[in-house]
Amino acid sequence: MIITSAKPLEEILALLKDEDDIFIIGCNVCAAKLKTGGEPEVLEMIRQLEKSGKHVVGWALPTAACSVRSFDSLVQKNEKIKEARCILVMGCGSGVSTISSVTEVPVFGSNDTLSLGGSSEGKLLSGQCIMCGKCTIGEFGGICPKSRCPKELLNGPCGGAVDGMCEVNRENDCVWTLIYNRLKKIKRLDLLYTIHAPQEHIVD
Ligand code: SF4
Ligand code: SF4
Repeated sequence: MIITSAKPLEEILALLKDEDDIFIIGCNVCAAKLKTGGEPEVLEMIRQLEKSGKHVVGWALPTAACSVRSFDSLVQKNEKIKEARCILVMGCGSGVSTISSVTEVPVFGSNDTLSLGGSSEGKLLSGQCIMCGKCTIGEFGGICPKSRCPKELLNGPCGGAVDGMCEVNRENDCVWTLIYNRLKKIKRLDLLYTIHAPQEHIVD
């Protein structure tokens, strides 16, 4: 799941500037789950934009904004898109890019894209993977230190954890404590003896 948060309305209006006759495209997967681009949020966005003096020509909710076959497939959902002078996508950056690739009119996004995460047991799990391109999560018991250790340490903890909490952010568990406990539980502490070579560091 791609984790997004909604931009403030003022920021969206500043982005749209003088654009009008807006068509809104939501996303019925990640953004709907996170309430940043499902049907209720799309309808609320229409209300807010019209209250701000903008004209919304229509809206559509494809299954995933990042997986759209063609402009015609959007027309099939709502032919009002043909009247649009711009499109506002309520999905992640990938959704905005995908819609941009099938239309000539300007495309804007209403969300900030934060990380690759997930959800389980009603809890949102953000920052679970930084898409490093060489997945070694299996060597860490299914818990990724590249994405979840602020120092991206691959060969053990920094030593600064207090009571199992990270020294960089005291509200987060030290991921290396989690990795150790998991490997112990699954009887794979032997994996801790693997030395991981430095990897390309991704600067935020
Ligand atoms: S190692 Fe971590 S950051 Fe890299 S692909 Fe696997 S889960 Fe994602
Ligand atoms: S305390 Fe743990 S999670 Fe935090 S920076 Fe150190 S090793 Fe990484």
